[in-house]
Amino acid sequence: MKDSILVINCGSSSLKFAILANDGQKILVEGIADRLGLDSIESSITFKHEGKKQEIALNDGNHKNAVDQIKHWLNSHPSIEKSLVGIGHRVVHGGETFTKSVLINQDVLEGIKSCARFAPLHNPAHIKGIEVAFELFPGLPQAAIFDTAFHQTLAPEQFLYPIPMSLYRDHNFRKYGFHGTSYRFISKQLATISKGSEQQGVLVAHLGNGASTCAINKGQSSDTSMGITPLEGLMMGTRSGSLDPSLISFISQAENISADEALDILNKKSGLLGVSEISNDCRTLEEAMASGDQRAKLALDMFAARTAKHLASVSTTLDSIDHLVFTGGIGENSQYLRQVICNHLKALNIHIDATSNINAPRGETSNISANISNTNVWIIPTNEELMIALDTISLIQH
Ligand code: ADP
Repeated sequence: MKDSILVINCGSSSLKFAILANDGQKILVEGIADRLGLDSIESSITFKHEGKKQEIALNDGNHKNAVDQIKHWLNSHPSIEKSLVGIGHRVVHGGETFTKSVLINQDVLEGIKSCARFAPLHNPAHIKGIEVAFELFPGLPQAAIFDTAFHQTLAPEQFLYPIPMSLYRDHNFRKYGFHGTSYRFISKQLATISKGSEQQGVLVAHLGNGASTCAINKGQSSDTSMGITPLEGLMMGTRSGSLDPSLISFISQAENISADEALDILNKKSGLLGVSEISNDCRTLEEAMASGDQRAKLALDMFAARTAKHLASVSTTLDSIDHLVFTGGIGENSQYLRQVICNHLKALNIHIDATSNINAPRGETSNISANISNTNVWIIPTNEELMIALDTISLIQH
């Protein structure tokens, strides 16, 4: 059938891809090219197809060569190549320009370029990916799906920072929020398992290496924890999350480094990694905690406390908290963190059932609420690639 979508997620040094068929329900092939654009390091691209994994070295590891290899792979799988109808690109920052997914033309490319100052590592990589895809797949329509778009429904009192208004007027400095494609997917999924949830109040904790919370009021984002960049809000794998901004100046003075270098510490050396001094990876820290490591336990407990705090914070934009959803690698898999986060939410009458939490089946949707809970608590696996494929299909058809 001619209904496959190539989904491309270009990072600064990686390119993840997947080809989805049957309205996005079937993954035909997926893979990743990593260590791109790092001159001295060998890069490669991996294809996972029909249960087999194939790794190919990239002589010149850049985004163009990675897309070239995908094209080459498709040449040797003509039935998949023929089934392609479009390409969907994940784009991190759409600023105030993009409030929904769009088909890409020259104006859209310019728009993505104009948002690059807020995502200097990501947006230029997306632009490269889009330009190369246009060159190698001429004739295939391409769509851009933005992490920020879902949060464009925030009211000014939520998205403005309490700083001089001229900084917003002149430079667009405001909260944008991220993980929007995941939140939109969760909102849609929840509506299929809990009829009427699109008219209710929903809290979502998207907990992965990057982590944020979102309040969804009647199907629309009403507040979210990340800001102008993904640094704001929760403690994350390597990001500090929200703190007193004066620390940037204290750190740079104390360590004799620039403000940008101090910011780098908050982005890359803080969070679970900075506190535990072991790893940014939740699973590794849970293993360390199980063998008695107190630093790992402190890092995880701080992560839980901050997640709860930011759930409570965004909940102030809801009339009622009817649902709480855990998603992302940590949200879907860490029963320890789900339990500790909910222990902090008792004052909001949110309670989970310890046994359902522990026994929740991996990779599946489940309800883990306790009987006494005012709020339904769910685990719902997210699927951003599927959302990107569905948006692309819908844009092509209209
Ligand atoms: P991102 O997409 O932001 O890179 P993911 O959503 O893939 O991140 O989540 C990665 C995180 O999920 C890591 O911290 C990893 O340790 C954690 N994780 C994955 N599986 C488990 C598990 N079984 N138990 C605890 N944590 C897990």
